[in-house]
Amino acid sequence: MLQMINAAFYALFILAMGYYFIINLQWYSYKLTRVLFHHTKIWWHFVYFLIPFALYMLVNNTSDYGFVVVIAYMGVLFQWYRGLDKPLVWTGRVKRFFAAMLLFAIFISVAFQDFTVIIPLFLAYFIGSDVLLEYITGNPLDHIGTLIKLLVFTLVFFFVFAWFREQVCIIVCPYGRLQGVLLDKQSIVVAYDHKRGENDNGRKKFRKNEDREEMGHGDCIDCNQCVVVCPTGIDIRNGTQLECVNCTACIDACDEIMDKVGFDPGLIRYASEDNITKGEEFKFNARIKAYSAVLTIMVAVLIALLFLRSDLEATILRLPGQNFTTTETSVSNVYTFKLINKTVKDLKNVEIKLVSHAGEIRIVGGTSFVPKGDLTEGTLFIDIDKKDLESSKEKLKIGIYADGELVETTSTSFTGPMKLSNN
Ligand code: SF4
Ligand code: SF4
Repeated sequence: MLQMINAAFYALFILAMGYYFIINLQWYSYKLTRVLFHHTKIWWHFVYFLIPFALYMLVNNTSDYGFVVVIAYMGVLFQWYRGLDKPLVWTGRVKRFFAAMLLFAIFISVAFQDFTVIIPLFLAYFIGSDVLLEYITGNPLDHIGTLIKLLVFTLVFFFVFAWFREQVCIIVCPYGRLQGVLLDKQSIVVAYDHKRGENDNGRKKFRKNEDREEMGHGDCIDCNQCVVVCPTGIDIRNGTQLECVNCTACIDACDEIMDKVGFDPGLIRYASEDNITKGEEFKFNARIKAYSAVLTIMVAVLIALLFLRSDLEATILRLPGQNFTTTETSVSNVYTFKLINKTVKDLKNVEIKLVSHAGEIRIVGGTSFVPKGDLTEGTLFIDIDKKDLESSKEKLKIGIYADGELVETTSTSFTGPMKLSNN
């Protein structure tokens, strides 16, 4: 709750400061240098702009009471405004400035106040929580590349928020296209009840004391409110369209109108084509059952995979193009290995041991450490006594141990001579 109050006051604070800024600019013919260096009352900038700004930043960043500073500032600014002999003239330029300020204020309050949990969570997903904490607490210059990328990302979002808006839904987002492919006459969508809305003689503006039913007109009074509120600007009365993002704003707007003219709500509602034309009620049909079953299986598999996921992934493959080598008593194969640590802890004292056969594994350079969220790769040799081999190609089971504990098993093939000398 306090966070929402602070977000609203943050937006108000930006607008109030914008008011001070634009009125001064207007007095000085929109010349910033004149406002800054040739103002007749330079001290105003300190009292009505810089000090409140610094105070707000200090209080807002160290406590939840930034809104108190905004209330005080509004009081001070109001007194200042009452003493002015030249108020702000609302020219087109000033209106555009405030429109941009308003968008900016909403964007900043929503993106940086309400979403202060969501954005770091997203970031943590991509770059890892440890790195994110390091970024937050460290010097921004140490990760200037990431900072620039984030700024670009923020600018793109601001562009979408301020100008591109619903065009994202219409042009960029594939949902509408998918929806067009997946829908049929039983699909429940936001729909206009054309039978009720149009009747025999179509829609008509509302007039008191008219018997619309007798005149053959439907319940749609052609007020256009459903079109006005639609974020993608479509007329849902023309049927389901791929631009519809199912926001249901038209349902609310129409219900409000129906309420005002004394008709039943639900002229636009969640309904299927069959429900509207044939009056069929919702049925849990075979297709829905099949989709539900598939969805349940997918969720179950996902949960199972999450629980069965091992902390370490090991891949051991024979080095391509390399044949086995033999000595008097043993056979040796050479392999490449890759160990991926999926945890947030370093794996120390890592050993690779043969589980299915007696023999020895020699790691080139030796490895005993796999860093968290990272991988270690290298080359290793496996030596097995000829007497322990039964055929020229055998499957080996290999265990990966960390601090003496088995964390993963994997398998690979091992080749030897066709006829073993001591067989
Ligand atoms: S649900 Fe939203 S997007 Fe779809 S028609 Fe209604 S207002 Fe427009
Ligand atoms: S809001 Fe309802 S009554 Fe008004 S035009 Fe749309 S469908 Fe008709």
